[in-house]
Amino acid sequence: MEYIHYCKNCKKTFSVELRTAAYHCPECNTELVETQIPVNEWRSKTDDEKNALKEEFESYEVKTYANQPSDENSKRSSGSSNGIGNALKVIGYIMIGLSIIAGFIIMADQSVVFGIAVGIGGAIGGLVLVGFSEIINLLQDIKNKE
Ligand SMILES: [Zn+2]
Repeated sequence: MEYIHYCKNCKKTFSVELRTAAYHCPECNTELVETQIPVNEWRSKTDDEKNALKEEFESYEVKTYANQPSDENSKRSSGSSNGIGNALKVIGYIMIGLSIIAGFIIMADQSVVFGIAVGIGGAIGGLVLVGFSEIINLLQDIKNKE
């Protein structure tokens, strides 16, 4: 079921599947406010009714989600010791980038097959590192919540 979401900046409505995370306006990237009005109900309304509702939406607050840390929480987790997770993530991305570059160089200079193997192998290795870093950060988040 899709519900009407409203952008206070563009004064436009969007239909969005009921969600569990913040949803941003596709036009201006402002976070949309969620209304309790299903899309088919909205479509059956007259323009006057829609305009009246839009005024009401202006007073709505952007919804906060349980899995979206508040300012206080994000400050706390950024201050905690998940530096290893973040470092692994950076190394992983660097590894992916370098492997792809190295792969292309080898493809041009030596062997296409060997170049592809180096590129893909390195990229997979980098992805594994990025994945590990996500797990470490998740574990750290769980620890922070306790
Ligand atoms: Zn907008």
